[in-house]
Amino acid sequence: MSQSKATPKFVLEGVRARYDSVEVLTGVDLEIPPGIFVIVGPSGSGKSTLLRLLNRLLSPTAGKILYEDKPIEQYPVLQLRRRVGMVFQKPVLFDGTVADNIRFANESLDDDRIAELLAQVGLPTDYAHRDSTQLSVGEAQRVCLARTLATQPDVILLDEPTSALDPTATKTIEDLMISLAKNEGISLVWVTHQMEQAIRLAADGAMLYQGKIHWRGNTADLMNADDEVVRKFVRGELK
Ligand code: ADP
Ligand code: MG
Repeated sequence: MSQSKATPKFVLEGVRARYDSVEVLTGVDLEIPPGIFVIVGPSGSGKSTLLRLLNRLLSPTAGKILYEDKPIEQYPVLQLRRRVGMVFQKPVLFDGTVADNIRFANESLDDDRIAELLAQVGLPTDYAHRDSTQLSVGEAQRVCLARTLATQPDVILLDEPTSALDPTATKTIEDLMISLAKNEGISLVWVTHQMEQAIRLAADGAMLYQGKIHWRGNTADLMNADDEVVRKFVRGELK
């Protein structure tokens, strides 16, 4: 029996993006289903640019982007960014306590809700009063995640969120995100250049190369794909 197909979170058709005179995305066609979706690709292939389009930190120069079946530009931008949160490569916190930083997302959060958010990212409740400049990078990244969760997002975009972390902190973030996706029904679009991480995170993924989707399928199949570009990427030979 075939199941009816879930509505994609995002649909991109013929999407182009540029910085000044340089076209970085040259025609991206991609459907991103709900759940965990992984995007890999060599450095400079346009992965971060693609994520920025999905919460309108950047606008495409051509093509169309749908979020939940509706043109993305039809959502009020601040509302969209609360539904589609983003976590960056390096945690960005301002001076102040951890609670101050989480309240940046929503100033009316009470102490119970802050405690709940800290618990969700695996930090003790008393971290609320900690000085945010005194955290380890892994802890700071978890606070960024708590701040993102404070808006009760539908999707979280993750731009190589563990690349500044050691293997233990990386595993903590991966496990956390996978359980959030499963238990809270939050969809993840996770950019990584690490093949092993891509396979750990999800079966479903795509590879970006020279501004286009070069490959789409099961991440485990990337390892023995019958494609010269993919093979070079897996061997770390693509610059
Ligand atoms: P990736 O995340 O895959 O490494 P990016 O999307 O960051 O790739 O960048 C794709 C290309 O666009 C690169 O050549 C990069 O130098 C260029 N680029 C990225 N951001 C900017 C910017 N703000 N201004 C000009 N060029 C940029
Ligand atoms: Mg990048």
